[in-house]
Amino acid sequence: MTTTVAATLCRPSPPEAGWLVIDDGVVVDVGSGTVGAGAGVVDLGDALLVPGFLDLQVNGVGDVDFAHADGPAWQRARAALLHVGTTGFCPTLVTAPLDSYEPVLTRVASVRAAGHDGAAILGVHLEGPFLGAAPGAHPVDLLRPADPAWLARLLDTHPGLVTVVTLAPEADRDLAATRLLARRGVVVALGHSTASYDDAVAAADAGASVVTHLFNAMGPFHQREPGLIGAALSDPRLTPTLIADLVHVHPAALRLATAAKRSLALVTDAVAVGAATADTASPDRDGVPRLPDGTLVGSRLTLDRAVRNVVGLGVPVERAVEMATTVPADVLELTDRGRLAPGRRADFVALDPTTLAVRSVWLDGQRVVG
Ligand code: ZN
Repeated sequence: MTTTVAATLCRPSPPEAGWLVIDDGVVVDVGSGTVGAGAGVVDLGDALLVPGFLDLQVNGVGDVDFAHADGPAWQRARAALLHVGTTGFCPTLVTAPLDSYEPVLTRVASVRAAGHDGAAILGVHLEGPFLGAAPGAHPVDLLRPADPAWLARLLDTHPGLVTVVTLAPEADRDLAATRLLARRGVVVALGHSTASYDDAVAAADAGASVVTHLFNAMGPFHQREPGLIGAALSDPRLTPTLIADLVHVHPAALRLATAAKRSLALVTDAVAVGAATADTASPDRDGVPRLPDGTLVGSRLTLDRAVRNVVGLGVPVERAVEMATTVPADVLELTDRGRLAPGRRADFVALDPTTLAVRSVWLDGQRVVG
């Protein structure tokens, strides 16, 4: 039994009238033009159909902090992500004592094994504790030099569970952890670092492929000392991620990044409401959580809003959508999502063509929201 969905398609590509055929949760055909009404045809009218959004960095959703969530909380969070069009995500764990990761990873593994309900868990992103001289809101006393043996044990215990590790080159002086992770198929993201340009390029030589939240928590750009920012924007092997809430990064810096680099991924770095403010942080200012000294503690961003923000800066919609779908899929080397194309999962989002607000969300070819 196949279903044909008609809409304006952004595969991502310049939007045009088109259709796609779904069979058993997978896109089996895509084409341009219009289709007549008929059995098995769902006409979404003027909706802009884009692939489901993929978030490489999200610490929490609503009242759910992934570091502490139990089963029902995970379900709540995954349902909430679906409502804003995020069909896959990397739950992200920030710096914590080394012995605290194992129980959390065990919980994530059991949630993942329990089945596909809500936004898909694309693997855990460990942001820390191997960070450097730009810790941001991470607890400084828990930062430590990279420990390849600890990482190897973690990967052995939970094969395929950890997909991204953010570390600082200065915390991995001999690049042993970077090499180990790259060899084991884990994405090495450089971040929370004051690494020099040369150190960042050396890390890319060793297998690093991402720069975490470009501009935030890293050394400044200088014309003779371009640092991690300079490497992120000029080295084709590095895909920077961006928090496009228009607070973490100035619109001009976002425009600069989109002009300099084709391969950019939008992330939310979202934190649970109350998670960052439970003990030390001040109430939100401008809707963005901060420590009492003003240091930003993640965001309240959602990827649909990030796409709207980037389009609002004058970036073509297909480029903004690519940054929230195709690029993160490519970063994770996922060939089953991130595009509206034959062989990909039928996970997609119907947006209002003018406001880009989410109208409906489809998962495995089923309309689950809207
Ligand atoms: Zn961070």
